Amino acid sequence: MDKFLQLVQIDSTSGNERQIADVLAEELKQLGLSVYEDTAGKNVGTSTGNLIAHLPGNVAGAPVLMFSSHMDTVEPGENIRPQIKDGIIYSSGDTVLGGDDKAGLAAILEALYTIKENNLPHGDLKIIFTIWEEGGLVGSTNIEQEHIKADAGFVLDSNGDPGSIVVRGPSQDQIVATIKGKAAHAGINPQDGINAIQVASKAVASMKLGKIDNDTTANIGVISGGKATNIVPEEAVVHGETRSMDREKRAAQTESICFAFKQAAKDEGASVDIQTETIYPDIDLKENEPVVELATLAARNIRVELDLTSTGGGSDANNFNYYGIPTVNLGIGMKQVHTTSEYITIENLILSARYVTEIIRTGAQNQG
Ligand SMILES: [Zn+2]
Repeated sequence: MDKFLQLVQIDSTSGNERQIADVLAEELKQLGLSVYEDTAGKNVGTSTGNLIAHLPGNVAGAPVLMFSSHMDTVEPGENIRPQIKDGIIYSSGDTVLGGDDKAGLAAILEALYTIKENNLPHGDLKIIFTIWEEGGLVGSTNIEQEHIKADAGFVLDSNGDPGSIVVRGPSQDQIVATIKGKAAHAGINPQDGINAIQVASKAVASMKLGKIDNDTTANIGVISGGKATNIVPEEAVVHGETRSMDREKRAAQTESICFAFKQAAKDEGASVDIQTETIYPDIDLKENEPVVELATLAARNIRVELDLTSTGGGSDANNFNYYGIPTVNLGIGMKQVHTTSEYITIENLILSARYVTEIIRTGAQNQG
């Protein structure tokens, strides 16, 4: 709990992780880990990289385990003053608490202290603290992959209680459509114009959005354009996304949105430029995957309720799976995240640390 309270009071909104990275790197070194800061920050215009730390194992033949949490928080995340009431930690109401994801950082550090103080058996451990997870998985997308080999990965960044294990999650496409119409005076010669906002409206109105099927969702989230009421707007920009547990369904849904833009532009004599990008891949881990079996066994050992679950969101676990490290996302009990009502119970902080310790201990017994 002390570690958690210390970490949430270090400001670290996305892109501003220098201070917390320095504190965490120093602490990992004190715990006997070698620490490398990668060049991910340089690619995205911040001074801070991902921290990649390594602790050599003290038993032979155990799988290499990776544990990861992100160092950044969402806004409003400056000057966080945690308050404790009846075993629950809140913010003071004008910021987030930052349990997302400092509860994960604290659990991993506490597990490392526990292992060291009790001289527990463990295999090789990789600890990865990422920058800029919020708003696009920027840190893990730009990570130096050659430094992060592991047999099984555990991201601590899900809002279920400890024992909740995310094994499935969708991939996501981002779509940006820029519609070009033609400007004209709205009162004198509107017939010479092509209203880009109206073209965008027709396109959006013709799309299937929301829940498409059990695997797939789609949304138009931002629409902007126009300069004044007396000008027929020349340009409108529309941002949307599609997600699916099935990558072919995602591609088809993205294609149908692109088609709607093209069709509306064609009908109205406008043009459209569309950019699409798959910003993260899906997660689909089976129950007999070693990482799922290890997470399950450790959860049973500490007697937390086991829940193998899916999510509609993305996390660094999506990227780690893509890089070839089978990785689950563990619930750490953070609640109402991304709001000023965010909170976490002290009990869940303790359980998460105990759970990480147990995964490491169980993994070391599970040789080969
Ligand atoms: Zn998070």
